[in-house]
Amino acid sequence: MKIIMLGAPGAGKGTQAIKIAEKYGIPHISTGDIFRANIKNGTELGKKAKEYMDKGALVPDELTCDLVVDRIHQDDCANGFVLDGFPRTIPQAEALDAALQKDNETMDFAIDIEVPDDNIVKRMGGRRACVNCGATYHIVSAPPKAEGVCDHCGGKLTIRDDDKPETVQKRLTVYHDQTQPLIDYYRKAGILHSVDGTQSLDDVFSEIVKVLG
Ligand code: ADP
Ligand code: ADP
Ligand code: ZN
Repeated sequence: MKIIMLGAPGAGKGTQAIKIAEKYGIPHISTGDIFRANIKNGTELGKKAKEYMDKGALVPDELTCDLVVDRIHQDDCANGFVLDGFPRTIPQAEALDAALQKDNETMDFAIDIEVPDDNIVKRMGGRRACVNCGATYHIVSAPPKAEGVCDHCGGKLTIRDDDKPETVQKRLTVYHDQTQPLIDYYRKAGILHSVDGTQSLDDVFSEIVKVLG
């Protein structure tokens, strides 16, 4: 089962992708998490990616596509995977399709989580992320069991550098310009399914499970 999560920053892609990965036993691949791990470890890729991420811009496709193509060829992806935050541009989607085509494969599902912009801006102010495993929480709608501590791994929860209101606005503009066209791309491919992301976490997940079967 090969799944893409689409939706604006803060729509709930990561939250739902983790639940999908658990239920269906497939890896959760988040390009944002991969970049943040590289930043934390001080790699060359991390240094380059940080320049773009801090501005709310996209990391260039040249730094992003090969990384994902390599990742989906690892052994744990044999039964599928859930992509969270990739593709984010039409060239990225084309690179993914081209890589799969070499193995006579195609993506199975693109799940678009729909949340209006004003709702997103409110949500992002309350997002907290685990520095260790990337799991996200919300101070009101999805609080951790113990304040400031990750339920999954015990890591410390922090506010992401790019979740400041000005940067969130910039990321939303980038989303509408560069990522939203993917909705049509996957509709044309016949694999698009939209879900109402303004519902509770559990209701969004139930809708997704209905789609995936
Ligand atoms: P969010 O969860 O808010 O959607 P992500 O964690 O997916 O954010 O991404 C954070 C930042 O990492 C993005 O704003 C962008 O700078 C960079 N990034 C992540 N994935 C990609 C991608 N596929 N292409 C380009 N940049 C990316
Ligand atoms: P994305 O990966 O799309 O950027 P996240 O999964 O990190 O989004 O969610 C963004 C923020 O919104 C987090 O603080 C998360 O806990 C919260 N959140 C996610 N889904 C919902 C929902 N259905 N209702 C309310 N808050 C949510
Ligand atoms: Zn954690």
